[in-house]
Amino acid sequence: MIVKVAAASICGSDLHFVTGEVPMTPNFIIGHEGVGIVDEVGPYVKNFKPGDRVVIPGGVACGACSECRAGRYYACEKDLMFGAGKNKGDLPGVQAEYVRIPYADNNVVKIPDSVSFKQALLVGDVLSTGYIGVTYRPPQPGDDIAVFGCGPVGLCAVASAKLFSPARLIAVDLEDYRLEMALKMGATHVINAREARAAREIRSLTGGVGVQLSIDAVATPQTIDDCLACTAKGGFISMIGMSPFHVNVALLKMFYKNLTLVSGYTSLHEMSRLLKLIEFGKIDVTPLITHEVTLSNILEGYRIFGERLDNCIKVMVVPD
Ligand SMILES: [Zn+2]
Ligand SMILES: [Zn+2]
Repeated sequence: MIVKVAAASICGSDLHFVTGEVPMTPNFIIGHEGVGIVDEVGPYVKNFKPGDRVVIPGGVACGACSECRAGRYYACEKDLMFGAGKNKGDLPGVQAEYVRIPYADNNVVKIPDSVSFKQALLVGDVLSTGYIGVTYRPPQPGDDIAVFGCGPVGLCAVASAKLFSPARLIAVDLEDYRLEMALKMGATHVINAREARAAREIRSLTGGVGVQLSIDAVATPQTIDDCLACTAKGGFISMIGMSPFHVNVALLKMFYKNLTLVSGYTSLHEMSRLLKLIEFGKIDVTPLITHEVTLSNILEGYRIFGERLDNCIKVMVVPD
């Protein structure tokens, strides 16, 4: 399938390629978050036709390998991701005018007519990640939930957690403007970790009990420690931040509190559900898209995003 890109967004992982922290083939097209209009389909594409509006997932699964057949699409043996270079199948990315989607029938999802491209833009990556972070073990209504890190993924986790009617939904970050956005996404309490010790504050907010679910969208030694300290007995820690750190984990704390810790990267099997939730007004993460640039001006978008200028959270890139 060839998709004419209607909008793409810039992800933190794209930034590493641009700054050179992660090596990338020169002139390779990057980007893995996008939406667009089907332009052309090959003979094996049965479910889509030119003109369909679709969400492009961050990566694609072949649908035929043993992992895919077992439903573990994230573990697809082809290991294909858009715009991530040689290690991920050399698939040119979506920060372009057009993008080629292999195995399209298995992977793209139609956008409902009443949902705009902007509303759907984050479904193929950060919203899916935030949502999965909440639903590894779905919370019960009235549970208390803490989210560490209010970047795009953490804020999507806050918005997703709200769907489960938590009593307290506590967001932690170092930047006040991100905490303000967390309140907009439905947080009931916010903690600036520069000013307060987050775990202690969370325990005191919850009457000494702690939260039933902690979501760590940062995964630094500090946030992991905080999660262990602020999660209630029998509670669940979901680690959805990409961490380069080796950390010491207080295993005895986990043992005595019967804690469960789960981690992993996005599974994209909930994209249709998320689009339906957007269609019916149950979740709206468009406020996270704080900036818009045209494709020819994309480097300005990278600058604003990379330097977090002007309270930037997410940059949308649109065709010229
Ligand atoms: Zn991304
Ligand atoms: Zn596969």
